[in-house]
Amino acid sequence: MYTAMDERFIRQTILPQLGPQGQHRLGEARVLVAGCGALGTHTAEALLRAGVRRLLLVDRDVVEVHNLHRVALLTPADLGRPKAEAAAEALLRIDPEAEVIPYTAHLGPALAEKLVPRVDLVVDGLDNLETRYLVNDACVKHGLPWIYTAVLATYGMTMAIVPGLGPCLRCLFPTPPAPGTLPTCAESGILGPVPQALAAIQAATAIQVLTRSPDLRPGELLHLDLWTHRTERVTVARAVGCPTCGERRFEFLAQGSGTSVLCGDTIQVLPRHRGPLDLAHLAARLAPLGEVRLERGLLVAQIGKVALTVFPDGRALVKGVRDPERAQALYDQYLSR
Ligand SMILES: [Zn+2]
Repeated sequence: MYTAMDERFIRQTILPQLGPQGQHRLGEARVLVAGCGALGTHTAEALLRAGVRRLLLVDRDVVEVHNLHRVALLTPADLGRPKAEAAAEALLRIDPEAEVIPYTAHLGPALAEKLVPRVDLVVDGLDNLETRYLVNDACVKHGLPWIYTAVLATYGMTMAIVPGLGPCLRCLFPTPPAPGTLPTCAESGILGPVPQALAAIQAATAIQVLTRSPDLRPGELLHLDLWTHRTERVTVARAVGCPTCGERRFEFLAQGSGTSVLCGDTIQVLPRHRGPLDLAHLAARLAPLGEVRLERGLLVAQIGKVALTVFPDGRALVKGVRDPERAQALYDQYLSR
């Protein structure tokens, strides 16, 4: 137990639900924060302040001005910076002795297989269901708890998933929806305090998981509308024949995906061949086509109506097109090597 920190957590350790032993367990735990948008940053800050001092942060995106009305930790000074790095720096200002490791990368099958077995819990800061299915696959495969949390407009929902003790995400949503059929916060909007409220519930649930609280209710789906103040609780049962937690077929871990539509009018394109990209060389090649600049280690290009952000690992965010195939075509046209 880190006695030097006892004073910091004294108001929490006197809670009978935690006590010194619960606080000690928080200090020993390692948590993966999947996504560093509003949900992820608020959850990460709440967990760190509560004494969870080992955090892995994953996010593939950079900070944009329309994120700022709802995120924690990030400020206008971070615009254009990778979200995971900016959030990690802010967390280390709150607790300089914490271990916070940022990964600016797409959370795909390889990274999920690498990071999930290293942690005690995964919390949800994601903006798409596809990656949530992947996290679900990885957590069920490795027998690790995770918390599903999603927000849209004025409401959100959350559920603790503990493999072996309750349903998984695929018991709740058996069939993945077709790409582009679910509303996103770019179309439906998002009320600023909504991710903060759901992140608070997610962080409290995370504390229950990490302290092995008997009060944890795996498989209880909580729906909260922050505008009407209505809450609903539904007990989700394990689905007979669930491909993930029943048959242990991990389809999302097995597949690689070229493009994915992010929250907003942004499409991510992954490189077909792994390996670092010479951004300076690419900038010189694209310069005659439009406005091209190298900024904070990224290449940012505006070519006609299309905006491209290219990462050193060859990943690109394409803005200004709605069709993933068109985004892939533009990627091939501008970035193929
Ligand atoms: Zn299941």
